[in-house]
Parts: sequence; structure tokens; C-alpha cells
Amino acid sequence: MSYINCFWQGAALGDLEQICLLSMLRQNYKVRLFCYEPIANAPAGIDIADAKEIMPRQELLVHRATGSPALGTNKFRYLIMKKGLGIWLDTDVLVIKPLPKADDYIFGWQDDHLICSAVFYLPQNSSVVSEICEFVSQQYPIPPFYDEVIRFDLEQKAKLGHPVDVRDLPWGVYGPQALTYFVRKNNLIQFARPTEVFYPLHFTQADALVSSKYEVSELITTSTVAVHLWNQALRYPPTTVGQPVLETGSFLEKFAREQLGYRLANSITYSSGSRNAQCPCGSGKRFKHCHGFIKVLSRLDQPDKVNDARMVP
Ligand SMILES: [Zn+2]
Repeated sequence: MSYINCFWQGAALGDLEQICLLSMLRQNYKVRLFCYEPIANAPAGIDIADAKEIMPRQELLVHRATGSPALGTNKFRYLIMKKGLGIWLDTDVLVIKPLPKADDYIFGWQDDHLICSAVFYLPQNSSVVSEICEFVSQQYPIPPFYDEVIRFDLEQKAKLGHPVDVRDLPWGVYGPQALTYFVRKNNLIQFARPTEVFYPLHFTQADALVSSKYEVSELITTSTVAVHLWNQALRYPPTTVGQPVLETGSFLEKFAREQLGYRLANSITYSSGSRNAQCPCGSGKRFKHCHGFIKVLSRLDQPDKVNDARMVP
């Protein structure tokens, strides 16, 4: 029996995280949710674990320009691998089928260029694990995957006694770019699974997962085992507090209701007496051209953004 490891920062989980955690339990995994503080509403059956046992809280670095905790949460998963604790899943990964066995490499392409670590497993003794853990332990890294000109600039600043702190580098330096670099360097790139396995929708399409205007089933194929919901992309701009309200009839709402028997704390239904009336969502379009028309999403389609006003804290 494999363990799935997740991380959550904050006092309570939203609908989206609850649904994802329940989808993991549904496949009979043991799920360990690492937290730095007590959590009010973890689903029954989830094991709560102390995040301090993996990494002291002060190492949960926050990117200075955006306030994003991605540096810290990326580092956290690499340390989980180093300790050999099992599979890593972000709390916004919906599991729809059993994952590959954790005696294999588990990672996948998020697009044509980058490997994402939202669904992630590497053996403890993998050289990728030791090299990436060494990389994320540096306060003033000169990322080997950066452009030569930028690297030169960072080296000069370091020589002059003004090294650049990792929190001041461009966003996401511990993320997909780093993982893709170290996987490639260690000749494991052929183990990256195709996009549709874990990332059937691109992050620019995340809104379609919570909107009833879109049918996404064409993108979710027989080889899809998980759907990364791209929680970050759903909260746009990234400083937006809270979570999107899930629309009744959206992919995620339907999955929660039909597969998990989950009752949403927050959901919204759009209907109209007249197809020619303005859509109640506030888009300004007629109902028949907005929520009254379900569009089948294809790989190249960009859905409309969910309304930022419909966020719950
Ligand atoms: Zn509408």
C-alpha cells in the first residue's frame, strides 16, 4: 500500500481540496496531509502529519515579488522524496484512476517543454533527488538552467558581494524548470508521461474545470489517471484570496457529486427563463450565447475566465 503525501497551509480546506483528497481515498490510498498548524476540516480517513518533521517552517520560503509559497512547497516535495515517504500529489490533483506504482518514476509533461511535479515520485536513491535537494538548499543559487547572460549577471553580483537571494529570482525557480533540467541531466526524460496522463488541461484552460459552460471530456482520455486542477491559475491574479465557486454542472462539481457523493459548501447554478435574456453570470452576453450553450473544449481552446467576484475566502 502506497502513501500519498500532500501539503496544506492554512486553517481550513476549501471544496476543491476536499474533493481532491476524497478522490485519493476513493482509490484506496493512504493519504498523509502535512500541515504546520491544526486543520479544521480534513476529510475522515486523512492522516494529518506534522510538516515540521520534513522541513522547519522558516524554510517555507515565500517569493518576494508575488507572495507565492511555491518555493517552499516545491522544496517540501523534494524532501519527501529524499525521505522515501511515497508519492507526492498537490492538493489540487483529482485522482480518477489508480496511479502508476511507486516503484517506478512518476512525473509527466505539463506541456511540450516542462515536467510538472504536481504528481511526483522518484526513488529515494535517485541522483535527481540528491541533486535537486542540493540545489534547493542554496540561499543564493545560480540556476544551471538559466540563460547564460542571466547566469553571468548573477555570478557578477555574487562576486561583488551582493548575491541574489532565491526569493528575489524570477517566480518558480524550484518548479518545473528545475525538475525538467535535473531529469534531463540524469537521462530520465524518457520516463516523463504524456501530457494527457496527469495534465489533460493546460493551466490556461483551468477555468473550464469549474465552469458549466464547458464540456472537457474530449481532453480526458483513457490514459488520463489524474487531473491537475491548477488552483493557482483559478485564482487570478495570483494575489486573489480564496477559491472559485464551483458551478453546478461543471466537470469538478459533477465529479464531486456523482463519484464522491460530496456536497459542495459553495456552488452556483446559472439558469434563465428566456434564452434571449442576459445571462445571470454577469458576462453581459445573452444566456443562449453564454451559460445556455455548452462548448466542447478542445486542446487549443481558451475558456473564459471565471469571475473573480465569485471567490470564497
Ligand atoms: Zn453566463
